[in-house]
Amino acid sequence: METLKITVDKEHPSIESLSEAIRLIKEGGLVAFPTETVYGLGGDAKNPEASKKIYAAKGRPSDNPLIVHIHDFSELEEIVAEVPESARKLADAFWPGPLTMILPKNDVIPLETTGGLDTVAIRMPSHPVARAFLTESKVMIAAPSANTSGRPSPTTADHVWEDLHGKIDCIIDGGSVDIGLESTIVDLTDEIPTILRPGYINEKMLSEVLGQVRMDPGILGVDKNVRPKAPGMRYKHYAPKGDLTIVEGDRDKVVLKINACVKADLAAGFKVGVIATEETKALYDCDTILTVGERKNEDTIAHNLYGILRDFDELGIEKMYTESFDTPRIGQAIMNRLLKAAGHHVIEA
Ligand code: AMP
Ligand code: MG
Repeated sequence: METLKITVDKEHPSIESLSEAIRLIKEGGLVAFPTETVYGLGGDAKNPEASKKIYAAKGRPSDNPLIVHIHDFSELEEIVAEVPESARKLADAFWPGPLTMILPKNDVIPLETTGGLDTVAIRMPSHPVARAFLTESKVMIAAPSANTSGRPSPTTADHVWEDLHGKIDCIIDGGSVDIGLESTIVDLTDEIPTILRPGYINEKMLSEVLGQVRMDPGILGVDKNVRPKAPGMRYKHYAPKGDLTIVEGDRDKVVLKINACVKADLAAGFKVGVIATEETKALYDCDTILTVGERKNEDTIAHNLYGILRDFDELGIEKMYTESFDTPRIGQAIMNRLLKAAGHHVIEA
């Protein structure tokens, strides 16, 4: 299949520039598009054949449900069994934006889209291109991240092209995304709203709106026997091809430890890389040091993380070391993705 690439203006996408993508999504085709979190791989959420094609293109396990993207709250009302007060409050506070809600579904969205579950994940993105695409097509769009299953999520159209060209109908290039990590997922089907995946909208922001909120014990990694409730959080994910190790502890000790590990790996003949920050990049002794961002501006770390993991793949790096990033606001989301990318391999400096 030939994959069409369309370039649009990120802030003011014209309807004409989107017209071919709109035609394709209405006909049941697959169209990748930018959102404020990562690029999504979209198909008509009501069309079971489109959802099947999404799973096939990504190589995604068919029990891992898709998020339905909407542009107006009335579309949520159309696809859920009931609308709890908590959903209205969250929508008022955070939509459009990087928050996904899980609610009981009715029959409008087929089980092919929800991985066989009787609940549905819904999000209203804020990215101008995503909003224009949803509003003008009038299609509710099921979209997981537009990467090959298991690889880091795409934050540019080039990442999508790398993974999916020849397998999907179209890529809308709206430049680099803003946040760089997937949406926060909150499950509203439990008595206490539960965070199934941390993201830019953090626990504190949610509890200010809802009162009590809890974190899914399955994603905290404390007890290995408790499985995450979001099927997607159970798989090894976001992972580069080489082995990633997270080094925790005081900054000076972390630098010493990483330098010692690098030296040993180089002596053993491996290609080695370090994920550093602006604050620490000068302190490492390694040929391949990639700077992920600035600690004093934590959003830069979220923004660059997946791109950096892909860069290591391109360089053929076999062993990677990274500092840890429990920064105040988005640190929990960054560490959640890094831990999965590292297969929970953490050492203490
Ligand atoms: P992605 O869009 O690639 O970030 O994947 C969507 C994420 O949402 C995956 O982790 C899914 O497991 C999760 N998800 C989607 N629908 C549901 C649902 N009904 N219940 C729980 N998790 C869901
Ligand atoms: Mg994904």
